Amino acid sequence: MKKTSIKAKELSASSRIAGFDEVVSCYTEEEALSEAKRCLQCKDPTCIAGCPVEIDIKKFIVQITRKDYKGAYFTIREKNNFPSICGRVCPAEYQCRKTCVLTKKGSPFASEKAIDIHFLERFAGDWGMKHCSPQFNVVEGRVPARGKLKSAKVAVVGSGPAGLCCAGELARHGVKVVIFETLHAPGGVLRYGIPPFRLPRDVLDFEINYLKKLGVEIVPNFVVGKIKSLDELFAEGFSAVFLGLGAGAPSFMGIPGENLCNIYSANEFLTRVNLMGAYKFPEYHTPVNIGKKTIVIGGGNTAMDAARVALRLQRLNNIKPNVNIFYRRTENEMPARKPEIEHAKEEGINFRFLVQPAEFIGDKEGYVKKIRCLACKLGEPDSSGRRRPLPIKGSEFEESCDIAIIAVGLKANQVLTGVTPRLTLDKYKDIKVNPQTMETSMRCVYAGGDIVGGEGTVIEAMGMAKKAAAAIIAKLA
Ligand SMILES: Cc1cc2nc3c(=O)[nH]c(=O)nc-3n(C[C@H](O)[C@H](O)[C@H](O)COP(=O)(O)OP(=O)(O)OC[C@H]3O[C@@H](n4cnc5c(N)ncnc54)[C@H](O)[C@@H]3O)c2cc1C
Repeated sequence: MKKTSIKAKELSASSRIAGFDEVVSCYTEEEALSEAKRCLQCKDPTCIAGCPVEIDIKKFIVQITRKDYKGAYFTIREKNNFPSICGRVCPAEYQCRKTCVLTKKGSPFASEKAIDIHFLERFAGDWGMKHCSPQFNVVEGRVPARGKLKSAKVAVVGSGPAGLCCAGELARHGVKVVIFETLHAPGGVLRYGIPPFRLPRDVLDFEINYLKKLGVEIVPNFVVGKIKSLDELFAEGFSAVFLGLGAGAPSFMGIPGENLCNIYSANEFLTRVNLMGAYKFPEYHTPVNIGKKTIVIGGGNTAMDAARVALRLQRLNNIKPNVNIFYRRTENEMPARKPEIEHAKEEGINFRFLVQPAEFIGDKEGYVKKIRCLACKLGEPDSSGRRRPLPIKGSEFEESCDIAIIAVGLKANQVLTGVTPRLTLDKYKDIKVNPQTMETSMRCVYAGGDIVGGEGTVIEAMGMAKKAAAAIIAKLA
């Protein structure tokens, strides 16, 4: 038996940058069986506590070893509405894999020996997608509606993982759910942020289709807070509202020249390409400028996605790829997932560490041409626990670029919260909730996902949404 986890196959770097095809393959049946058999089947499995929705990991892995793939699929579905999505995007190395007993206690992330739980989850999820239609899932997953729930109607604002998960949980219990979404297509970051080479859109569409079959209604192009207020939704007969507004507003650095042309926020850049099909311009109406040299500022997942998309666009337009990531700390402090950093490197993205942008410099027409930076050294750890970057006096240097993408963080948009003064917010303008129920300061208004506590992960958003759905069910039943 192998001592280290089995790696899923990947497209070669040269073929993957030629388009937007999925990079990482699903385990074959043989690979899944071998990996599942490595699991020690601990009497007291620690991995479950590492999962924000507490999937019965031990049980579904045993089911895989017995080739009971349908059983494994429904074991996951009991706790996680989106197995194939989470099997692709979950940072398992910081969650369930980190708490696998094969990882040494106290390690900051999973060791090579830890069971590759999320590849097994993806195997079971993809098996379910292939063999169980959304209609079949509905029959298996539905819980008999009881009491007043049968006539209850709940509004969900936002269709990211938090909103979709809450809607799914409520609909499973027989509650009528309407999702209101600002954009023209549902999915939140899963659609407009994470590129299709990490999360193919047919996977997302399968799960959304499942919710529709459960009876969830999705109303796109509807900005709650502009078109209707929360009070108006209650007046229309909704008994409760869940807010899954996400953290969709980009942060900027506040340095001179940041408003020059061809400087994008990563959110705008990714939304144009992923949601609005800019990479197919003029077939799709949204254009995106593709330069000869792109600099992406930041070190998180968003920076990695933006850089890898920018590289593919250059390639598709027959431009010699030249994409650079500038980050003010070192690789050790980068918040992006390790596999994403590795993929970016393999694809030819250049990394410059310990550099802090100070100014963008443009030409007469107002287009960015250069970036002025300072070199940094690391100081003492800051409140995030990471060592603080300290700019070095006199270390200025300039670097040419014709596209810059800023990926230095996201925060709450205040379209709805700004017109709803009865919602109590924290100092970051995120919504405050009762952590046991996710109820906000407004009665029967619940919240979860990135709008509570800031940027997190897909599965954390889903964990909060499930907690809120349980509290809504308890209140309305
Ligand atoms: C580029 C990128 C890559 C990422 N990669 C990963 C990853 O690999 N793994 C991982 O676990 N996490 C990743 N994350 C983080 C993860 O995507 C988020 O934590 C998660 O999407 C949060 O879910 P949410 O439902 O709270 O918000 P969102 O996904 O942001 O969805 C919120 C939705 O609400 C809508 N909305 C907002 N206001 C209103 C309103 N007033 N009326 C109607 N609709 C409204 C928005 O349009 C949006 O569709 C990534 C994030 C980004 C930006």
